[in-house]
Amino acid sequence: MDEKTREDLLSLFRSKLNDAMRLYLETCTRCGTCVEACHVHASMGQTRYIAAYRGEIVRRLYRKYFKARGKLWASVGDAKELTDMTLEELYDAAYSCTGCRRCVVYCPFGIDTQMLMSIAKLLLVGAHSEPEILSMLADTSIEKGKSLEIFKEGFLAGIRNLEAEVVKQWKTEAGKTPIPVDVEGADLLYVALAGAHSIVPAAAVFNAAGENWTLSFFEAVNFGAFVGDPSRTKLILDRIINEALRLKVKEVCICECGTAYRVMKHLSGDQPFKVTSLTEVHARYLREGRIRVDRTKAEGPVTYHDPCQIARNAGVVDEPRYILSQLTDDFRELTDDPTYNWCCGGGGGLVALGEETLDFRMKSARVKADQVRDTGAAILSTACENCHTQLSNLNDHYKLGVDVRFLSSMVADALVPLA
Ligand code: SF4
Ligand code: SF4
Repeated sequence: MDEKTREDLLSLFRSKLNDAMRLYLETCTRCGTCVEACHVHASMGQTRYIAAYRGEIVRRLYRKYFKARGKLWASVGDAKELTDMTLEELYDAAYSCTGCRRCVVYCPFGIDTQMLMSIAKLLLVGAHSEPEILSMLADTSIEKGKSLEIFKEGFLAGIRNLEAEVVKQWKTEAGKTPIPVDVEGADLLYVALAGAHSIVPAAAVFNAAGENWTLSFFEAVNFGAFVGDPSRTKLILDRIINEALRLKVKEVCICECGTAYRVMKHLSGDQPFKVTSLTEVHARYLREGRIRVDRTKAEGPVTYHDPCQIARNAGVVDEPRYILSQLTDDFRELTDDPTYNWCCGGGGGLVALGEETLDFRMKSARVKADQVRDTGAAILSTACENCHTQLSNLNDHYKLGVDVRFLSSMVADALVPLA
């Protein structure tokens, strides 16, 4: 690595050094409490997958370049040179961490390994060593935001096709415009993912509840966050914020995508609209009697996987349980306290990397598969696209024999007319 590249990367490192980050970098006592916290280590048992070990790679660079002791005596205090080999270690640490933050709830100092891995990811972006596909997907999202007019027509034609599906399955709920788009003055802007599964059932529930809603032109997923690039994360987020402001909505509801929800909830700043997840909105409709569901539709015991970014990291824990209390008489928890739920093993961009990470994802989430099997559930519901894909892969790999369902689809399929 040449000196100029190293200097550029160290400036990126410096840009992440706020008070919280310095605390995470300076506080680890190597107490070992986090050893069993990480699903990767619990499943695969290798030292490099211990949360504190991942953090230590970043910490050693910090000591070398940002602490006086490391600068003076490079060989003392475990300081580490930033080299091409270090970048490989950073890649291994960052792209085997799903950012689930289970280790944070175990660490007595609240050290956030996911934040430390955000330094690793940013250095990889600076060195052009990040996963190319994630970068490409982030750039495509940004381009779409810049040229809305070009793709608008194709998008609207696709939506008109999906409307037929809404009418076919939920005739009485469909209303005049089954999937409204670009409605100024709507109360709620729904930000979905590409694909009918994220739009059609959600539309049925909005229509059944009599919601004054409109569908976003943009996909919720934020590949800038997966790849760990704050500038691109913001550009992707801004497309939705600007659309919400233009349409003057009161609420932005994010589909079942954990990262999209967490980014929108925590990074959108002070706005004239509130941010909700689809799960929160469905729980609200049920509580207010705006929709009714048939509790006999779910066949067999049901369990629920809390997506890390929606539950542990954003506090949406009671709402899915309230929804499920309306959908089944046989709900079984995966764990006594959802805050400590095992990650599905697919976050942090790993599912988006597809086949490339499949073997690792299956091996590193063995504890999740065991947890699901132990419930004896027939239906495994969740509220995140990544989790759904990963849990479906685990279901096949470990022959769990469960039906993996989106919670929102379970609500839509159980809709019954109001009395
Ligand atoms: S954030 Fe999750 S995956 Fe990453 S080290 Fe902590 S427990 Fe492991
Ligand atoms: S629990 Fe916290 S302080 Fe202890 S080793 Fe892990 S990161 Fe360090």
